[in-house]
Amino acid sequence: MVANKRCLFCDGELREVLFENVRDRLGVSDKAWNFRRCADCGSAVLDPMPSLDELLAAYPPTYHVDQAPQTHWLHRLQHAIETRCFYHPVCRFSVQQVQRVTGLKGGRMLDVGGGSGHRSAFFQQAGFEVTVLDPDERALRVAQEQFGLRTVCGLLEEADLPEEHFDLVTFYCVVEHLPEPQQTLTAAYRVLRPSGWVVALVPLVDSWMVRMFKERWADVREAPRHTGLPTVEGMRRLLERSGFTLKAWESYNLWVNAGLFALSLVPLATTPIACVSLSLNARLFWRGMGVLATFAGLPFAWLEKIGGHPSTGVFFAQKQ
Ligand SMILES: [Zn+2]
Repeated sequence: MVANKRCLFCDGELREVLFENVRDRLGVSDKAWNFRRCADCGSAVLDPMPSLDELLAAYPPTYHVDQAPQTHWLHRLQHAIETRCFYHPVCRFSVQQVQRVTGLKGGRMLDVGGGSGHRSAFFQQAGFEVTVLDPDERALRVAQEQFGLRTVCGLLEEADLPEEHFDLVTFYCVVEHLPEPQQTLTAAYRVLRPSGWVVALVPLVDSWMVRMFKERWADVREAPRHTGLPTVEGMRRLLERSGFTLKAWESYNLWVNAGLFALSLVPLATTPIACVSLSLNARLFWRGMGVLATFAGLPFAWLEKIGGHPSTGVFFAQKQ
């Protein structure tokens, strides 16, 4: 671990501890983690910062939803219902949001950290020519075999990709995991054609949900897999330092934000990826509680969006 003095987003100075003694919600890391606040942009950054090896070791073997073992028919039914009622509508929302804000109706797209390609598949259906980039070989196999997507295994900074090639580079729930986000976004800049778009979905630390849950917020408890939680200002500066011009930002899907509310309130409701070993009945019970809490969180998610402090933000920036 390395003592961390600079903000990952704006390179400002890290000051007071914002979240203390944070425990990994999946229980992979057994350490207590601290986030400190940047004096300039207000973002939260892990201090000390784990080494790359420590970071990679903090991912459980089944991190993606569809990698979860589905040994019982009730699991398969639960997964089918959640996919149909939650994940697929959220993927469609992503495609429509990108098309509406960027004006792109198709083109070459690189989905960084796209995993098993569930979201990418919706972009492909909408007319994009998608390449999924991810360090997880097992997830990429699903992307190839199930969705026929083109894949590249590795990290963006090291990948052998043509320069000025893509029209769109997406980072869905990726930037907050990176140990050096500026390097990664600069690599995205290189592979984008002039006036190409970068789209990044991140959890926002200046949201009202953080004010309410503090250390109990599900995205804080993703430490150390979450290395930093930006503010809107932190994201703007990160994108500008990487060469981009921020054109717009919006809240992400309200059901996702309500889901974060639920996971913060009822941590055991987390998807079957959890390392928590629960019996089948207990797992279904807590998942059900999570569904109820999601509905309860919807008005709150709507309020924080209207108030301009949503718990997730999608940033749309362009290479000039
Ligand atoms: Zn900062």
